[in-house]
Amino acid sequence: MKKRVAVLGATGSIGKSALDVILAGREHFEVVLLCAHTDRAGLAQAGAQWPKAQTVLSSEPGGKEALLAAIANARADITINGISGASGLEPSIAAIESGSALALANKETLVMAGPLVLKLAAEKKAPVIPVDSEHSAIFQLINAHGTESLDEIILTASGGPFRNLSLDEMRQVSPESALAHPTWNMGPKITIDSASMANKGLEVIEAACLFNMPPEKIKVVIQPQSIIHSMIRMKDGALYAQLSRPDMRLPISSALYWPEITHSAGFGRLDFDSLTLEFSRPDMEKFPMLGLAYQALKNGGLYPCAYNAANEAAVAAFLRGQTGFLDIAAITEYVLSRDWSAALSDIASVLESDAQARALAETFIRQE
Ligand code: NDP
Ligand code: MG
Repeated sequence: MKKRVAVLGATGSIGKSALDVILAGREHFEVVLLCAHTDRAGLAQAGAQWPKAQTVLSSEPGGKEALLAAIANARADITINGISGASGLEPSIAAIESGSALALANKETLVMAGPLVLKLAAEKKAPVIPVDSEHSAIFQLINAHGTESLDEIILTASGGPFRNLSLDEMRQVSPESALAHPTWNMGPKITIDSASMANKGLEVIEAACLFNMPPEKIKVVIQPQSIIHSMIRMKDGALYAQLSRPDMRLPISSALYWPEITHSAGFGRLDFDSLTLEFSRPDMEKFPMLGLAYQALKNGGLYPCAYNAANEAAVAAFLRGQTGFLDIAAITEYVLSRDWSAALSDIASVLESDAQARALAETFIRQE
């Protein structure tokens, strides 16, 4: 029996990579739903490969409701969520509600509402399989080694394009230079997040939620080549790492075939001949977004949701040329200085806090 797959964010970087993996394994998969937001031509192109799939363009009037209804009715075995930003939360929930497994690239789903989402997934017996490369690595390492003797999780980070710049130089950087990532080719929002290390901040929160680990047991190490995707350290000090070429088709493939392991369909094996691995500590002064994420995680409640919303608003303003690069952290810090300690009660209050945090960030941006 072919797995019925829904692809959300089909026109994006993750969506296209997912469709590559699915096409390479077409004897195992049937695409039943393809969703995009604005890229009509891209959606039509994806749909041409899968004529039986329903297509939804969610920027049209009533598009969001159409998207959620299509997910609910898709009878997908697995839904890959490659939507960018907070807009991915409700589609994740709709997929879980439908009983589909969720191959989750949209880390915002877990940062905003992780405990609620995982509780629902447990009730619906819907597996949540991480696609983010670090979390995919840890998921596989934990599946292999168990959690009984697990001591800590070590997330690797490329350090982004500004790893070697001074703070003064970082003040001046343009959106163009922030969009030029040294190792990964991704959508604009996550690329800026990699440059500020907000991406690693979001991933620390994502890891805490997925693997039920306290903040002090989640470490970050810079590994500029992006070959080691993450590591776990056991109580006896043994370290286990997962390595491969930096290619998102690999973690996507692991998620789509999970719990089976398949031949990587020619996405390339790691070649040791010209391999160098470097490591360094993240500079918390140059990358305050990382420290702010740890703080938001420790504070709990709606702080992680506010962190995400403030950062999204700040990144959009930076890309519009309205704020400087270092203002992203200043805006986020300002928003987090408010009280977000209310407990995560339901999705409606998460969405409300998301909107409030964005509005606060916008006030700060307008005053600059
Ligand atoms: P892209 O910007 O490349 O793609 C985003 C996709 O989401 C597009 O298909 C877009 O549609 C769709 N979309 C945008 N807004 C909405 C909305 N409001 N409702 C429904 N669909 C929407 O992003 P990426 O593929 O880079 O990232 C997607 C997610 O995966 C993010 O959460 C990111 O953090 C995560 N991720 C990405 C990685 C990567 O390598 N790219 C690695 C690890 C995680 P359209 O183009 O039609 O407007
Ligand atoms: Mg990642």
